[in-house]
Amino acid sequence: MNKPTILVVEDDGPVRNLMITTLKTHNYKYLTATQGSEAVMVASSHNPDVVFLDLGLPDMDGVDVIRQIRSWSNMPIIVISARSEDEDKITALDAGADDYLTKPFSVDELLARLRVTVRRLALMNNDGNTDSSLYTNGALKIDYAAGCAYLNDEELRLTPIEYKLLCLLARNTGKVLTHTYITQNIWGQSWDNDIASLRVFMVTLRKKLESAPNTPQYIQTHIGIGYRMIKTE
Ligand code: CA
Repeated sequence: MNKPTILVVEDDGPVRNLMITTLKTHNYKYLTATQGSEAVMVASSHNPDVVFLDLGLPDMDGVDVIRQIRSWSNMPIIVISARSEDEDKITALDAGADDYLTKPFSVDELLARLRVTVRRLALMNNDGNTDSSLYTNGALKIDYAAGCAYLNDEELRLTPIEYKLLCLLARNTGKVLTHTYITQNIWGQSWDNDIASLRVFMVTLRKKLESAPNTPQYIQTHIGIGYRMIKTE
């Protein structure tokens, strides 16, 4: 894959310049927008590979930018926001954002998030060519057709819920999934009770999947927000 084009949506000049300089230094191509309506327009006319999106824009809420882009595109969107409240991140993720970064951020962190997203993009683009009924991530394998998961070629003895949970995370590798998103997909609803159950299932799944559950290799916890399956090398 060629170096991707990033659409930087940010009304704050110094922050925008920091992002642009970082992208230039690492040979990424970029486009910019300083308003939400402009962002939606540039996204539709130039079809960038990844969007960096500030949530607090002068003309509209960044979450509405996500909703508009999601009405016609799955392009990865990384929310970059000064709002530290989990609620805003959750709203953005539930609207279809792929990841989030809280300001102030380090340039290294920005680049790390971008790499994760680009890997996810490559994975998504590969789906059409390869046999998508088989998932491989490090020592983890999932045979979707057979309904079995393997670790180091040994079958994992998962309960139906654990298996469903593992598949949901695997199909969204690299993407942060909120508690609400996961519980809605597993149980078709989201009550506080389900989020408590989700934690329990996550503990039992990790015991079977992770060799060291305290330093997970596959499933990353985003405290107060949700979980993400990491692509291991
Ligand atoms: Ca702003």
